[in-house]
Amino acid sequence: MKCASCGRDSEYSVCGRCLAERVEIIFHPPVIEITKCSRCGDFRLDKWTPATLEEAVEHHLFRNLSIHEEFQVDDIHFEPVGDEIGRYRLYVSGMLRDYHVTREGTFEVRLRKVACERCSRQAGGYYEAILQIRADRRELRDDEIERISEIVENAIVRERNNPMAFISKIEVRKEGIDIYLGDKNLGQKLSRIISRETGAETKESSKIAGREDGRDFHRFTYLVRLPGFFRGDLVEDGGVVAVVRDAARRTGYNVMTGKQMKLKNPKVIARREDLKESSVLNADATTIEILDPDTFETVTAEKPGLRIEVGDTVYVVKHNDRIIAVHRELLE
Ligand SMILES: [Zn+2]
Ligand SMILES: [Zn+2]
Repeated sequence: MKCASCGRDSEYSVCGRCLAERVEIIFHPPVIEITKCSRCGDFRLDKWTPATLEEAVEHHLFRNLSIHEEFQVDDIHFEPVGDEIGRYRLYVSGMLRDYHVTREGTFEVRLRKVACERCSRQAGGYYEAILQIRADRRELRDDEIERISEIVENAIVRERNNPMAFISKIEVRKEGIDIYLGDKNLGQKLSRIISRETGAETKESSKIAGREDGRDFHRFTYLVRLPGFFRGDLVEDGGVVAVVRDAARRTGYNVMTGKQMKLKNPKVIARREDLKESSVLNADATTIEILDPDTFETVTAEKPGLRIEVGDTVYVVKHNDRIIAVHRELLE
């Protein structure tokens, strides 16, 4: 067959070369408008997204591009024109029927800066949930506050695509920390993560805080109460004295038997750092004699049912006029 237009041999009635002269192979808009958040730098693509400028240009360019149905694109790319801000050149090449075509064009990118949904809500102090971090009958420790801040920050980074995942306010109080969150689900998730890691007890409550779009607007409070005890602390739980083994899992060792036990409602008798070292001077079947670390007098304590010998190191604490000796092994 010959091309009806130029007469060259072609398998088409009009060859690719002639068709390329007659039809628009590619169309792109001369101006592409891009919206960027002036606070967090996200771009509005289909929705607000963390992206680079190039990714945003590509998204808006490709969705506004129309290509001739017979044009088989094998390369398409764009790049900024010199140092000119906002000017780009587009390159396209591919096959149109039996002819290889390349095309070039330029377009302009206009950047509009606004505050995204998340940033404007955050700036307006919007919140759906308060995450209340407390500790049971004690103050929060600095390392706990640091660790919890890390957990919260990581969760917010992971939820980068959730426009409600933000902190609108943090209040440091005497009794703990209140974190105001844009998303109630994030509050719930965080209370679970923190509880899993620390053994904290959680409590959820909500109240109506007004009306929004004709419906009641609820605010949620997620109370997270960290255990009052730490590994190595001496606690009393149901009449049994125990050493805390794992605060998060609420396990301990019965001081008398050395057996592992679940801590149900432990009350701290002594902190690990307040236990005083002493050594066993004498031992019989039921009692041991040790040196009182305060008075340096010899005192008698109930013998733990553990293998214990004269000369062994024990830790001593006085509780309700009773001397309790904790074998060193239980604190290792
Ligand atoms: Zn032709
Ligand atoms: Zn933003």
